[in-house]
Amino acid sequence: MTKFEDKRPVDFVIVGAGGAGGVVAKELSTAGFQVVVVEQGPYFHEEDFTHDELKFKDIFDSPFIGREVLTNDHALQPNTFRKTESEKAALAAFVQYGQCVGGGTVQFTGNYWRFHEVDFAERSRWGPVEGTGLADWPITYADLEPYYTKAEWELGISGLAGANPFDPPRSKPYPLPPLPVKSSGVLLERGARKLGWHPYPAPLAILSQPYQGRSACAHCGFCESFGCEWGAKSSTLASVIPMAEKTGHCEIRPNSYVRKISTDKNGRVDGVLYFDSQKQEHLQRAKAVVVCANGAETPRLLLMSKSNLYPQGLANSSGLVGKFFMVDLGGLTLGTFEHPLNEFKSVRVTRVVQDFYDSDPKRGSYGGGGIDARAQGKFQPYSDRFQPYHVSAT
Ligand code: SF4
Repeated sequence: MTKFEDKRPVDFVIVGAGGAGGVVAKELSTAGFQVVVVEQGPYFHEEDFTHDELKFKDIFDSPFIGREVLTNDHALQPNTFRKTESEKAALAAFVQYGQCVGGGTVQFTGNYWRFHEVDFAERSRWGPVEGTGLADWPITYADLEPYYTKAEWELGISGLAGANPFDPPRSKPYPLPPLPVKSSGVLLERGARKLGWHPYPAPLAILSQPYQGRSACAHCGFCESFGCEWGAKSSTLASVIPMAEKTGHCEIRPNSYVRKISTDKNGRVDGVLYFDSQKQEHLQRAKAVVVCANGAETPRLLLMSKSNLYPQGLANSSGLVGKFFMVDLGGLTLGTFEHPLNEFKSVRVTRVVQDFYDSDPKRGSYGGGGIDARAQGKFQPYSDRFQPYHVSAT
């Protein structure tokens, strides 16, 4: 285990060991840089990922029961929400994210679609949207394509290139074939084909075959909301973080909560101030800081890093940091079927439809998305009756 001293500046401090932080740590440490990754959550290992639904799963769809083992704890870090500046903000579990080494990639479904070309130029295509800061990306899909390919091959993504007629061009197929279809996928595929849509095997960050020393999926069924005890889910915890640690140049420092990015008298970033698990404050010095703390916590940390030189927070001369924050929304349709579907097995999603991915003014709203089919097994809070598995399209 590599350990660096707080006082000795390392080349980079990375804030957050999740989807982005894990990848950046691997890239920098394999290039020979000294890296400390400061993560507010714990460092779990495969043996910690038990099949304990009461511990890990949100059985009441409540953000306050279960599941906050792997995600942020709203009792400790409450969110508030208001619709307008004149309203009084009320407690609301608004933001939920993975809070452990590996971040959200530890407990996510594993859906691993690429963005489409149009996603990078939505403003040019559709014009302004009132109340938003909609803008084109400064890069195109073509600029990003080599990196999508690199990520798919390093993390281990299963899928079938060319199966989705709406997919953007790719320079290489997926490294692994798709996972086997399950009943929800068969039902979605049959129904979608009847309607003339184009279902295809879900690209998943889950190994369908052994890959780079890791085991293939054992189809245990404890997948979304759980960590994978087989290391088959291609989280950064199972894939790139071990590569970073193996270099001997990277220290992962869990249970460490960054409160401020510090700057020197000339306004140059020189480290991060963080609390350890005993609530002791430390300054980890660094030549540069990379903030990979997710869409909500990254702007929050920049805004909290105020100083006399930066009264609006860091990197915020535009005043736009934290403005127009938008989360990914999903709609849900439930159906109950006459036969058992055995949906308790395997991964969560095996078929996807992207016929409605693009915005369409005829729908009267901005945005589109993909449809997948997945089981919804839920206790009902006001009844002791356990509902049978449904299949939903999201
Ligand atoms: S279903 Fe497969 S990928 Fe998901 S947790 Fe089980 S073994 Fe891991």
